[in-house]
Amino acid sequence: MTHLHSDHVGGLTTQDGQRVFPNADVYVAKVESDFWLSPEIAAKAPKDAQPFFQSARAIAAPYIKAGKWHTFSGSEPIVDGMQLVPLPGHTPGHTGYEFSSKGQKILFWGDIIHAQRVQLQHPEVTAIFDIDQTAAAATRHRLLPRLAREDVLIAAPHMSFFPPLGRLHKEKSGYSWAPVAFTDQWVEHAP
Ligand SMILES: [Zn+2]
Repeated sequence: MTHLHSDHVGGLTTQDGQRVFPNADVYVAKVESDFWLSPEIAAKAPKDAQPFFQSARAIAAPYIKAGKWHTFSGSEPIVDGMQLVPLPGHTPGHTGYEFSSKGQKILFWGDIIHAQRVQLQHPEVTAIFDIDQTAAAATRHRLLPRLAREDVLIAAPHMSFFPPLGRLHKEKSGYSWAPVAFTDQWVEHAP
């Protein structure tokens, strides 16, 4: 999980608290899990932030109970070919997952960009949902140049294209987004 906002993890658990994916082992950064699942931190949070804590706890609960909720503290390997990319700021343990195969890379970057028309030109602009706005801006400033340079394919949930998969191109100022071409035609390649 990139982070524990319900628009990213809500699909894990049904309204009545059942696991949607009973065979899944769920991985989340320890600081992220500790933050959202802490009754003490939740108690001190502003009233309008309470639903975020409640939903994170409800979504995690059946996986914790089943021993299927796992945390990681650094960038230790979890599976071959996948690299954890700490991207703090949006939430305390916000993490990207970068998969590599045959010289190509794809990064699932969670909530790095919310408003692409503004933030690709001005990565210093942060969304109100970014808990630590300074860290979120610093993360964008560090991450975007590398992704453009390495031509990494990006899975970006809040982009305004379907499918939200594309690459960043460096422009004179900021970046442009080059979405992949979508097709519903599946071309079978001869063996
Ligand atoms: Zn989020």
